[in-house]
Amino acid sequence: MTTRTQWNNLSKEEIMHLLSATGEEEKQLFGRSAEIKLRQVGNKVYLRGLIELSNICGKDCYYCGIRCSNRKANRYILTHDEVMQAVQSAYRQGFGSVAIQSGEVSSTTFVAYVDTIVRDIKKMTNGEAGITLSCGEQTEETYRRWFESGAERYLLRIETSSGKLYRKLHPDDERHSYTKRRNALDALRKTGYQTGTGVMIGLPFQTVEDLADDLLFMQQFDIDMCGMGPYIEHAHTPLFAYHDQLLPLTERLRLALRMISLLRILMPDINIAATTALQAISQDGREQAITVGANVLMPNITPEKYRKDYFLYENKPLSARSDEEELHYLGQRLKAIGHEIGYFLRGNSLHYRSTAKTL
Ligand code: SAH
Ligand code: SF4
Repeated sequence: MTTRTQWNNLSKEEIMHLLSATGEEEKQLFGRSAEIKLRQVGNKVYLRGLIELSNICGKDCYYCGIRCSNRKANRYILTHDEVMQAVQSAYRQGFGSVAIQSGEVSSTTFVAYVDTIVRDIKKMTNGEAGITLSCGEQTEETYRRWFESGAERYLLRIETSSGKLYRKLHPDDERHSYTKRRNALDALRKTGYQTGTGVMIGLPFQTVEDLADDLLFMQQFDIDMCGMGPYIEHAHTPLFAYHDQLLPLTERLRLALRMISLLRILMPDINIAATTALQAISQDGREQAITVGANVLMPNITPEKYRKDYFLYENKPLSARSDEEELHYLGQRLKAIGHEIGYFLRGNSLHYRSTAKTL
């Protein structure tokens, strides 16, 4: 297959085959995506300082440690001051963008709070810091409000592009509808955001065909950014019941790397994040992802005392180093693999610019 592979026009069957590649074939796949990445987006890695704004969530996704039914989770929401201090410190260190993530809450108070935060981050950084939001499904009006206040990117994972699998991962009710999630992605795109989505890799019941469909879904939706990573079980969630059916963690990591590699080949100029869940499996999981195609890192800048409570899955990496030391260390490790941190760069998706979506 390797010599005849039309890398820029892969069929679903070829994608499925490559998702299972091992040995020499996998090496060729990774080499190809690494080359495409360097040619299309270069060796700079863009930073988004990740602020885990709140673990209060109105939803009950079967895989997630902060689902509303998990009574063991210790709930919090950062104060305005805490957010601003985290942003200011990151901005001084050279982060060109921040990402604000939270459980899904749609109350008017929460929507207004996020809005104030977006405006104040823009004010504090003279409009320079890029802002990504990842606060779940909201109304089109809310998405527009946050966009007009200055958030330019939004990350909403479809989780899986299979409606059938989606149903198995969520309660069967109005709040957890696959169609609603798809419509929310459409609304984000329509509003003018650089729109990002992603999936979990290695879920129970998930097939290689589902994953190939996920990649084709992202291509067809023409996303600007992607954040995808391995599914990692959490003991206090319903999906944990299937943990003995999962691929071993190291294989889940490899599968995630092949997903990233293939997505880079299918969509050469988008932004792809090397997500924290990769690091939860292997200390250098993110660096491996950067090597095969990712170009964005999201170091955690949440005030330290809250980090253990934003516990979506087991083994969440909690560093003993300070954020400054962590960034320095990251820079060194990226250098060792021929990359460099894009300090003070916003790092917009080239794909968004090239397709010039109308605002
Ligand atoms: N509430 C928002 C954003 C926070 S959750 C939302 O759901 O969109 C962010 C992401 O964490 C989810 O999209 C999901 O893909 C991921 N996640 C949740 N539980 C996980 C788990 N057990 N393993 C890996 N990723 C998980
Ligand atoms: Fe809430 Fe997001 Fe977790 Fe679902 S994945 S329970 S919406 S935080």
